[in-house]
Amino acid sequence: MDLDEREVFRAILSREGQELSPLTEPTDSQAGAFGARQSRLRSLLEERRLSFLLVTKPANLFYLTNFRGSAGVGVFGADQNVLWVDPRYTLQARESAQGVEVREEKGRLLKAAMRWLKRQRAPIVGYEHTVLTCAALQELQEGSSGRVRLKPASGLVEELRAVKDPGEAARIREAGHLIAAVFEEVRGVIKPSVPEVDVAAEIEYRMRRRGGDGPAFETIVASGARAALPHARPSAKRLERNELVIIDLGVILGGYAADMTRTLFLGRPNRRIRDLYEAVRESQEQGVAALHDGVRASQVDAAARRALTRWRLARYFTHSTGHGVGLEIHEAPRVARGEKTRLRSGSVITIEPGVYIEGLGGVRIEDTLLVNHGTPEVLTPAPKDAWVIS
Ligand code: ZN
Ligand code: ZN
Repeated sequence: MDLDEREVFRAILSREGQELSPLTEPTDSQAGAFGARQSRLRSLLEERRLSFLLVTKPANLFYLTNFRGSAGVGVFGADQNVLWVDPRYTLQARESAQGVEVREEKGRLLKAAMRWLKRQRAPIVGYEHTVLTCAALQELQEGSSGRVRLKPASGLVEELRAVKDPGEAARIREAGHLIAAVFEEVRGVIKPSVPEVDVAAEIEYRMRRRGGDGPAFETIVASGARAALPHARPSAKRLERNELVIIDLGVILGGYAADMTRTLFLGRPNRRIRDLYEAVRESQEQGVAALHDGVRASQVDAAARRALTRWRLARYFTHSTGHGVGLEIHEAPRVARGEKTRLRSGSVITIEPGVYIEGLGGVRIEDTLLVNHGTPEVLTPAPKDAWVIS
C-alpha cells in the first residue's frame, strides 16, 4: 500500500457512524428512482407480452416500491400498480411505498390479488416461480378460476437489479467502506489463543456499532486446517501461531450488502504459504483487471483461473470467481465458467478466488467492485499487504 492509499484509508476509518437518510422517508431523487425502476419493468413486461407481474419476493418489492416489509404482494402493470399488505404493515406501506396503490387485506394477500386480477381484461400474469411455494402456486391457480393466464416469470426484476443506479452504488460503497474499516479495527484482536467465534462476534458487534443493519451472512473465521473449508462456520477452535486465517465478512447497510474476504497469517510464513498467498492475490488482481463494461462474466472468471494455472494451483480453486451483490448478498450476475452475461457499467460484483488444500488450510481474497467503463472501483478498500501478523 503506498502513502496515498494509506491516507485515503485513514480518512475512511475516521468516518464513524455516517448519517444515512432514513429509508421510510424517501427524498425526491429516491422517489424518482422508484418511478424509473417501475417504468423499466413496464418495458420488460411489454417485451415479454405480460399484462402484469405478480411480485412476492420481499427484495423485489423493496426495489420497486421502497416498501420493506417481510410480507406483501405487488401487482405491476402498464398503468396500474397495487400493493396488498396485512394490517401489521398498512401504516408503514402508506408512508414508504412509492408509485403503488396500497390496499390493506385482512385475509390471504394472494387471494386478494387474484380477485383484483380477475376483474382485469384477460390478463396474462407473470409470477416469480423460483420463490413461490407449491402451496402458494396452488392458491394462485385456484384463485384464477380459469380467467387469469399464469406464466412463470422469475428473474425479470433481478435483471433490472443487476445494474445499479447511482443511489444504490452509493449505499453499497458505504457498506463496503464500513466492513473495510471494521476489518482494520479487529486486526488487534486477531492473535494466538483467541477463539474463532470471538473474532466473529467482535466483527459483528462493530458492524452494528458503525450503523450496519446487521451481518449479511454468518461471518466466516476459519483458521489452520479449517481454512480449507470454503464456507466454514466459526468454531470454538483457538487461533494458533503459524496458521492461515480466512475472514469473510459482509454487512447490510440501508438494505444493501457488501462482501469482503481477507486472509491473514499468524507467525512467519514459509515459502509454500507465501506462494499460495501471492498466487491468490495475483489471481484476484487479474480478475479485477479483466473487469470492464461489456466483458462477459465467463471472461473475468477465466482471467482469475489463468493466473492460478500458472502457479499450478487451479485444481484447488473449487468455486466460481464471484457473484452480484446488492439487496441480496448473492444475486445476478454470477461470475463463473460458462456465464455468457455481459457485465455492465453499474454492475456490482465480487471477485473472490481461493485455494483450499486439505490438511494445510486455504487462502481467499475477495473484494466487492463497481464495474465502470474504465478501471472498476474497489468498494471494500482494506489493505492486502499487511497479511502477516508476527
Ligand atoms: Zn464473502
Ligand atoms: Zn462473496
